[in-house]
Amino acid sequence: MRIIENLAEMRETAKGIAVSRRSCGLVPTMGALHDGHLSLMRRSSGENDVSIISIFVNPTQFMPGEDFDSYPRTWEADVEAAEKNGVDIIFHPAPEDMYPSRSQTSVMVHGLTRSLCGMSRGQGHFRGVTTVVAKLFNLVQPTRAYFGQKDAQQAVVIQRMALDLNFPVEIIVCPIVRETDGLAMSSRNRNIPPEYRQRALVLRQALQLGRELVQGGETDPVVISNAMGEHILGDNEIELDYLEIVSPETLETVEKLDDLVLIAGAIKIGGVRLIDNILIGPNGPWED
Ligand code: AMP
Repeated sequence: MRIIENLAEMRETAKGIAVSRRSCGLVPTMGALHDGHLSLMRRSSGENDVSIISIFVNPTQFMPGEDFDSYPRTWEADVEAAEKNGVDIIFHPAPEDMYPSRSQTSVMVHGLTRSLCGMSRGQGHFRGVTTVVAKLFNLVQPTRAYFGQKDAQQAVVIQRMALDLNFPVEIIVCPIVRETDGLAMSSRNRNIPPEYRQRALVLRQALQLGRELVQGGETDPVVISNAMGEHILGDNEIELDYLEIVSPETLETVEKLDDLVLIAGAIKIGGVRLIDNILIGPNGPWED
């Protein structure tokens, strides 16, 4: 496994892969790797001749006051995990190379970034994400790129960007990987104070409650949202950031639950912001 830190070297390597007509999978990450990331890596290495992950804690997607400084960084363990999971190259650029001084260009997906995390964190968060992913696509030139359904809005936004800007890459969205008790894996889980860990499950429980209501025939999103919201607000130390029932394509709220919807939520617990979601329709799926 190679570690590439230099942008020119990454470009040259990408060129070599293309010239030899090998396929290339890219898994963009911010490191602090867990089983969610590993599932993406394994899929990438299974489907491509060369599997590349990027590890870059992207400063531009953190809004002022967010957790950029405390975001977990576990470089040595990450290198080991990547090596064990079929990764051929870790691309680990320096922030000052990714964002040269006086840079003035960004990539913005407009409508899809207004709701959900775009509403609570600000659209600037997604501007940071799409800008860095566009740069990674340009540098690595992947055949396929792998993203997790855990960040459902991010996956939809990236798919839109790739279409709109004609990136010759197939975007593959992989299922959410969970801890055994159901908590969606996240690098931020490491920062949950132990006394809050059990209570962090409240968002997952609310989503499951929503699913049960849909399974029981409920089609009014207001009724479902209220029941889920009440469950979360039952714990007064948990801040409910948002809980929305939206179309999985447009991310706009739905009036009636007559087709597949995305139920997505975000909470803050013990100073840590967690997100989770499920896809559900009147005919299921009942499991995830
Ligand atoms: P991050 O390092 O948090 O930026 O995540 C890198 C990629 O891993 C993103 O595409 C995430 O959606 C994906 N990912 C993070 N957590 C999970 C999870 N629990 N299951 C599946 N994919 C995940």
